[in-house]
Amino acid sequence: MSLVNHSCDPNCVIVFEGRQLLLRSVREIQIGEELTISYIESLMPSSERQKHLKRQYCFECNCLLCKTQEKDADMLAGEEQAWKEIKDAVAKVGDPRSQEEWEQVLAMCQALLNNNADRLPDTNIYLLKMLDCAMDACINLRRWEEALLYGNRTLKPYR
Ligand SMILES: [Zn+2]
Repeated sequence: MSLVNHSCDPNCVIVFEGRQLLLRSVREIQIGEELTISYIESLMPSSERQKHLKRQYCFECNCLLCKTQEKDADMLAGEEQAWKEIKDAVAKVGDPRSQEEWEQVLAMCQALLNNNADRLPDTNIYLLKMLDCAMDACINLRRWEEALLYGNRTLKPYR
């Protein structure tokens, strides 16, 4: 397993089943094609992926996704000032534990989502992360219908 190289658009993922580590394909693999996994959270624009890979693994990624920067325009769509504000807010969320903390997180998400409704499309990666955060907060607060609304909104852009 330690021989599997990185790609930002990998054909495999590593999953754990109890104490077993499994390599699973996530799409069809051609005969002779190299098996790859993503060493990092791959839902980031290429410049950020490169930064993480350089810092953590000391290499520059040359995968097709990095070469073409194909998804960057969608991930960074909308007003830069707006997505930077959302990016910073999501990064500060940390690890809420109590109901009160989750309510604060949800209120913050709702305020930012409302303020930026016209400034950011749902394909913006930081808006998506905020929608995920709002969904997590709703799940923790047992507000199922609201959680479903946030979750459904992310499906199409993630796909
Ligand atoms: Zn790459």
